[in-house]
Order: sequence, then C-alpha cells, then structure tokens
Amino acid sequence: MESAVRTRIAPSPTGEPHIGNVYAAMFCKAFAEQHHGQFVLRIEDTDRRRYVPEAVGLLIDAFHWVGLDPDEGPARGGPYGPYVQSERLPLYREQAEALVQRGGAYNCFCTPEELDAERKDAERRKVPYLYSRRCLRRPKEEVQQLLADGAPHVVRLRIPDGGRVSFPDAVRGDVSFENRFLTDQIILKSDGFPTSHLAIPMDDHAMHISHVIRAEEWLSSVPYYILVCQASGWPLPEFAHLSVLRNADRSKMSKRKNPTSVSWYRSQGYLPEALINFLALQGWSHPEGKEIFSFQEFTALLTLDRIVKSGPIFDFAKLDWMNRHYIRELTLDQLA
Ligand code: GLU
Repeated sequence: MESAVRTRIAPSPTGEPHIGNVYAAMFCKAFAEQHHGQFVLRIEDTDRRRYVPEAVGLLIDAFHWVGLDPDEGPARGGPYGPYVQSERLPLYREQAEALVQRGGAYNCFCTPEELDAERKDAERRKVPYLYSRRCLRRPKEEVQQLLADGAPHVVRLRIPDGGRVSFPDAVRGDVSFENRFLTDQIILKSDGFPTSHLAIPMDDHAMHISHVIRAEEWLSSVPYYILVCQASGWPLPEFAHLSVLRNADRSKMSKRKNPTSVSWYRSQGYLPEALINFLALQGWSHPEGKEIFSFQEFTALLTLDRIVKSGPIFDFAKLDWMNRHYIRELTLDQLA
C-alpha cells in the first residue's frame, strides 16, 4: 500500500498574500489530492519583526478564492495542530535543548558586536562568512556558569566537521552540499523563538509531511533541514523545489517590478480558473502540450518530473488571453 501523501504550504504572514503562495500551494494540493492524501496550511509567523496579524486571514481568504482550501490548517484544525508556529513555542525550545544534550547543537553566547566584527572580517578577506565556532570550544563549566547567570544566548546547529549532505530532489535531481561550506546556523534565538532552520523540519516531521514541495529559493537551506532531521533521528521527506515566477529580467517576481499580490489580480477581474491554469503552465508542462486545462485535469496529470527546472518569465499577455477564454466560457454557461 502507498504510504500517506501529505503536503503543506507554509507561508509567512508578512503582508498581502503573494501570487507565489498560490503557485506553490496548487502543486501541493494537486499532488496530495492525486494520491488521496492531505494538504496542510501552516502559518510560519516566528519572524516577529515582519509579522502582520491581518495577513493570516488574508492568506486563508486568498487560498479559498482560488479553490485551494487546505484539508488541515488554522481555520479547519486537524490532528497535528496547532498549525500556527507561534503557538508551538515550547515544542521548539524542548527540541533545541534535546539537540544540545545529544551534541547536535550548542549554546552560543557571542554578542551582536562580536558577530558583527567576525562578519566584517570575512568581508575584508572576501570570503563567505561562516561563524567562528568560538562557543563550540567554550569549556563546559564556563557554559554552565553562563547559563546559571542567565546570560543571553542562542542555540546553534552543529555542522559535522567533514563530509557532505546529499539528497535527491524530484525536480533538480541529485543535489549535494559540502559541510565545510555550511555554517552553524542559529536554530533558537535569544527571545526563545525558533528560526526556520529548526521550525520547518520539526513541524514537517510533527505533521507527517511526506513531500516538501516549495520554491527553489529554499533549496540552499535543505542541508540544514536534513542535518536537523539526522541529529533528531527523524526520517526525511521527499523534496521538490519549484522554479520561481520571474520578472522580465529573470529575477524573482517582486512587487517592485510587477503586481504580486493576489488581491491585485482579483481586483483586476482575473478569474481564479484563469490564474490557476496560467500558474500551472508557468511551472509544469501538460503531457499533450495543452494550454487550457482545469485544476482537476492538472491534478490527474501532474507528475513531479514534468515540473520545469527554470521558470519562464511571467507573461501577462498570455494570462490576459486565458482570462478572456474563461470569461467567455462563464458567459456561455450563464446564458444557458
Ligand atoms: N515560511 C516560508 C515562506 O514564507 C516557507 C518555507 C517552506 O515552505 O519550507 O516562504
């Protein structure tokens, strides 16, 4: 029997929902549906400086408008909640401590000024910045004393000294990162909030996510994801990194160069069917080369190996053409 397929979309509520959220969510939902699995919505609100409270409701509405309601999430609940990261803080703290006990992570007491000096030094030497690991070498007794004194600290992931992290990506093939180019990332901040390096793999594990389908920009964080799983003794999900939507200059689609908020498309009269059809074609090719197809057809035919490796430029002329097509259909239906 096929094991349960569970996918998730994990947006950060930082403002207006981005068209890229819809783009990733439709691949996640279609893949889960095709395998009779579940599609989960998880709100990643641990970056408190960028947090916009209204954005949570806007995300839920945006997914509803385009027909991508999750099977589990903050509004619907489900067996693996809470589905909002800020409601899971004690879990992250416990796990960070467990990793310290197992030697997969360590406490770091370096001050922002010390770290800044390290960063500037790397800049001067024109080398990529990697944390010096000063606190990894701190004597145990000194660490105990600092903790007892309540000294502010973070928890860092301990990257193994040699070797590499390799994994298959359903879109990009075999990917590999050498450990010596990785840095001991912070996994728990001094305010007790986790960083994405801890919260994402931990929640994917807790929520039984089988396939992590998300944007390409997250590819370089996969080695940290895998090291957290390995240090914790968790199985790995499958990975599929989608190519990002692009501006005309091929940079990642951004609001400085293009409209990116879902509400803009809605207010301009784009139909959700047209937007979904258009976005499917940005990241995937229909096996018969068809251009007009429904989300149901996409769900039936989606295979991860037909996801494109490099996304085409966002083509508004094509989106308009598709929208006209769906508007015509709508009118015929209404006439009938
Ligand atoms: N919270 C991340 C974002 O806002 C998503 C990370 C992920 O999908 O693993 O894009």
